[in-house]
Amino acid sequence: MNSDSLAAHVRGILDEIGEDPKREGLVKTPERVARALRFLTKGYGEDPQSVLNGALFTEDYSEMIVVKDLDFFSLCEHHILPFFGKAHVAYIPKHKIVGISKLARLVEVYARRLQVQERMTAQIASILMETLDPQGVGVVLQAEHLCMRMRGVEKQNSIVVTSTMLGVFRSHQETRHEFMSLAANGIRR
Ligand SMILES: [Zn+2]
Repeated sequence: MNSDSLAAHVRGILDEIGEDPKREGLVKTPERVARALRFLTKGYGEDPQSVLNGALFTEDYSEMIVVKDLDFFSLCEHHILPFFGKAHVAYIPKHKIVGISKLARLVEVYARRLQVQERMTAQIASILMETLDPQGVGVVLQAEHLCMRMRGVEKQNSIVVTSTMLGVFRSHQETRHEFMSLAANGIRR
């Protein structure tokens, strides 16, 4: 679907909610919304695997690598309203490491789609597990969901925390605790 037909749908929505798409303030709104939606869902056109493949290095490092507080902005697939927060990503390499900036890119690729927080957490963890073949991976996402806050479903200021632990992060309690306590320092706000 090109941007013009997306804009036409937005114009239809404006009509349906009782607005006048022809009034001055709304004349360009359908095109703007179409552009914004294209941007917020551009992850569909990006391949997470190739984001990582471009920056893999062989390295004899076997301690935990933790990247904290990666900002992300996504859209919940049930209401197409934003959920946003921080991602914390950790892994213990076996023989391959990945450029740190690529972890931020990876989170972005999965966030710029219609998502549920649980699936996004698992997707980030499993692509790292597949691509890096590390000893383990841990991913924690903390987010505010506007679909809950704006519709009054949840108490204000509540945050949702999801985590996926694979390999030693799942089997080794000490490893998981080390990561969780590092991530928890970022969770306070
Ligand atoms: Zn929702």
